Amino acid sequence: MAALTDKVAVVTGASRGIGRGIALELAKRGASVIVNYNASASTANEVVEEIKSLNGEATAVQADVSTEDGANALIKAAVDTYGKIDILINNAGTTRDNVIMIMKPEDFDAVIQSNLRSTWLCSKAAVRSMMRKRYGRIVNLTSISGVRGQAGQTNYSASKAGIIGLTKALAKEVGARGITVNAVAPGFVLTDLTKDLPQDLVDQMMPLIPLGKWASIEDIAFAVAFLASDEAAMITGEVLTVDGGMSA
Ligand code: NAP
Repeated sequence: MAALTDKVAVVTGASRGIGRGIALELAKRGASVIVNYNASASTANEVVEEIKSLNGEATAVQADVSTEDGANALIKAAVDTYGKIDILINNAGTTRDNVIMIMKPEDFDAVIQSNLRSTWLCSKAAVRSMMRKRYGRIVNLTSISGVRGQAGQTNYSASKAGIIGLTKALAKEVGARGITVNAVAPGFVLTDLTKDLPQDLVDQMMPLIPLGKWASIEDIAFAVAFLASDEAAMITGEVLTVDGGMSA
């Protein structure tokens, strides 16, 4: 298991779902974790308590990472609390699914802001501090919807495809400073984001997954923790799909 002892990590959207799982995994490996949330203060505090009960270190920080002020305040909170930032996991995200004929422009903008703009803003704020230390690990949550495209998700697929482009461009920009930038592309994972997917869509997708099951939150967290570790020092600009072979 890749150790993250003495590392400081920021996980955006860590109050629930995959972000919560990533925060727990990084903390179990020794990282001090900033548990970011937007609206879910009580569940974010529960994540912090859970980490502390495992003898880990964590702090909950409220910030809307789709805003410049929120992203800057979040990264500042990490540096103020723990003295530095080594690892940034851009996980916060949302959906507003619909077919394009019905989707409103504000549904497109909101999803691009929550998913893609937040990733750019937090990366920009973190890179400034990482460059000084000549060390950094950025892992961005994209999706197989961004790799393959998904009907009913023109906004979400565009945001996630944008994250892949951002990942590859930033990897080239900051590689010489010892910073790696990678993405993890989950297939289907059961969280608040997917619990209301139409059953006919789920039924259509299942035969397309060679391993025959949805990924667990832990499956995603393990992949993220690896890319955040020193053992992944030679990997940058990559997209690691964790989808049971669906997009292979
Ligand atoms: P989720 O259960 O809906 O949780 C979303 C998290 O993002 C929450 O902690 C939420 O905070 C936070 N968040 C949303 N907007 C935010 C903002 N503007 N500022 C700060 N935090 C914000 O989602 P999930 O399923 O765990 O998904 C996590 C990531 O994995 C997303 O990027 C998603 O696109 C990606 N992904 C998920 C799946 C899947 O099948 N679940 C598949 C592929 C990719 P609050 O609780 O405070 O609102």
